[in-house]
Amino acid sequence: MYVAGDREALIAGSQWDLKPFNLIRPRSLPEAVSAMAAEPDPVPYAGGTDMVAALREARRIGSLVWLRDLDELRGVREADGHLSIGALLTHADGANNEALQAIPGFAAAWSRIATVRIRWTATIGGNLMARRTRYEMSILLTALDARLRFATAEGEVLARPLDIWTGDVPARALLARIELPLDGAPRLDYERSMRPTTTQALCIRDDAGARRGRAVIATEYLPPFAFDVDPGAGGGAAGIAETAFEALPADFQDPAVGNTYLRKAGAVFLKRQMLRLGAADA
Ligand SMILES: Cc1cc2nc3c(=O)[nH]c(=O)nc-3n(C[C@H](O)[C@H](O)[C@H](O)COP(=O)(O)OP(=O)(O)OC[C@H]3O[C@@H](n4cnc5c(N)ncnc54)[C@H](O)[C@@H]3O)c2cc1C
Repeated sequence: MYVAGDREALIAGSQWDLKPFNLIRPRSLPEAVSAMAAEPDPVPYAGGTDMVAALREARRIGSLVWLRDLDELRGVREADGHLSIGALLTHADGANNEALQAIPGFAAAWSRIATVRIRWTATIGGNLMARRTRYEMSILLTALDARLRFATAEGEVLARPLDIWTGDVPARALLARIELPLDGAPRLDYERSMRPTTTQALCIRDDAGARRGRAVIATEYLPPFAFDVDPGAGGGAAGIAETAFEALPADFQDPAVGNTYLRKAGAVFLKRQMLRLGAADA
């Protein structure tokens, strides 16, 4: 969408349409939070790879808040039974991070996101906060039961990845860290051979002898839908997958792919995912 004054048209904008804006370079998270609260139309800048697309869509920038000097948003650490990932971790660093090996399959899934050039600068936080259904991090993180830690002028706000689609995240919040619980020894399988039509993640955990699964399906145009999988239900992997897919709402479909197709293909993928994770018998 091209916006010029009060005129709008379906023509992509470019950097030449940019109006002058403030550049804020905070040195700490509290400084960044203050800037987000005080500046006009603040836009956080992490890797900037989505920002180019957003500018073509006429995103307005009042003040650009440069996040890249914030150490609080960096690194991966393990504490209190979870992994804590800084929002600035890039796709390349995430895929190669030793600590993330605590969740088999996660780094491998992350390594398949985006192109080489983009992976060095694109961040996990930007992938989530761009709020684009075709981006994949919210699918993986929903399957992994992630918790998001946001910093705001009113204090810390905790949220889930699905909350970014429902507007339950305060408008001027900064995503600081992403926490992944390690209880039940989670392991992940990600099926993206049909992307962008549909992609699907499955996380399996073993709790005190009971096995539980969380599956997430998404399409190019729909936010992820999460549902439980009960590997102990019997009926073999195919039966378990078909039963689990009964939870998919009848209106979960988009202009490119219908509900019946998603249900059938999804159940086939889910069966394969359970077998790959050793979560059920054939
Ligand atoms: C050629 C290409 C191929 C791609 N392929 C894929 C793919 O296969 N799969 C996939 O999932 N994605 C893909 N992407 C998207 C890419 O992963 C995202 O552009 C990237 O992760 C965004 O991260 P960033 O750090 O560059 O975000 P930025 O562009 O800096 O920011 C994106 C948005 O998030 C906001 N933001 C950033 N950080 C924060 C924060 N900490 N708190 C609050 N708001 C924040 C910004 O204000 C902005 O609105 C591709 C992109 C390109 C250009």
